Amino acid sequence: MLRIGLFGGSFDPVHLGHLLVAQAAREELRLERLFFIAAAQSPFKPDRQPTSAPLRLRLLRLALAGLEWCELDDQEIRRGGISYTIDTVRNYAKRFAEAKLFYLIGADHLQQLPKWREAPELARLVEMAVIPRPGQGDTVLPAPFRGKTLVGFPLGVSSSQIRTRIKAGLPIDTLVPPAVAEAIRNNRLYL
Ligand code: ATP
Repeated sequence: MLRIGLFGGSFDPVHLGHLLVAQAAREELRLERLFFIAAAQSPFKPDRQPTSAPLRLRLLRLALAGLEWCELDDQEIRRGGISYTIDTVRNYAKRFAEAKLFYLIGADHLQQLPKWREAPELARLVEMAVIPRPGQGDTVLPAPFRGKTLVGFPLGVSSSQIRTRIKAGLPIDTLVPPAVAEAIRNNRLYL
């Protein structure tokens, strides 16, 4: 049975924490393919307008170059509006009817999970893979979700931290892939 990972997020910008999640998921869940799904607008970040989608996608493309098992999915951006995971997962369930689908989620989202749109249906369609995140504590999945916690490579880096550092004039070179750091610098992003 084909094993597919789904990794949704704002990726504003993509950073090494995301790539380590991908690597851990590939190994621990024995994934054949992993899709990075960039959100148009997260339902949980209503106060923040994300950076333009083409820019976020461009940085993601640079970050994923050469990782042939990773793919970029822009369906939520093409749909526009608020991005609900259930819509995206339904699309994958239809497209890969025979596959086992894993949804990757950082421990910081666990508390909110039961409030996600159509949570029971989402729990039926995917197995969750919880990624520990330094400072986020508990990795227990709330009912009715099923799945497991990955060991991963816990790294306490976040997109908001990177945006704050850029605004403060601090270097980000060790926190994102080199090509992403270069593109952010050359295009004067997140200033
Ligand atoms: P922000 O700081 O803007 O909230 P973020 O760094 O959490 O952004 P997102 O794009 O919102 O990044 O995250 C996408 C997914 O990746 C979420 O499930 C999130 O929990 C997870 N994630 C992000 N960074 C890490 C990390 N360092 N370790 C584990 N999981 C992470």
